[in-house]
Amino acid sequence: MNPIRRFLQAIRSLLTGGAPLCDKCKYDYGNVCTRPERPNARSCPDYRRK
Ligand code: SF4
Repeated sequence: MNPIRRFLQAIRSLLTGGAPLCDKCKYDYGNVCTRPERPNARSCPDYRRK
């Protein structure tokens, strides 16, 4: 991984507390979301805050 990418990932981890997006997504219940990256999505075009 190149240094810039690693740096951006570290910043993102600090901002999100390292938690996956799904933990804060309003689609993270039942069978609403069928994306394969659930429940550990780090980026997701369908993410919506609860
Ligand atoms: S829409 Fe994306 S962020 Fe939300 S639960 Fe599904 S995979 Fe996770």
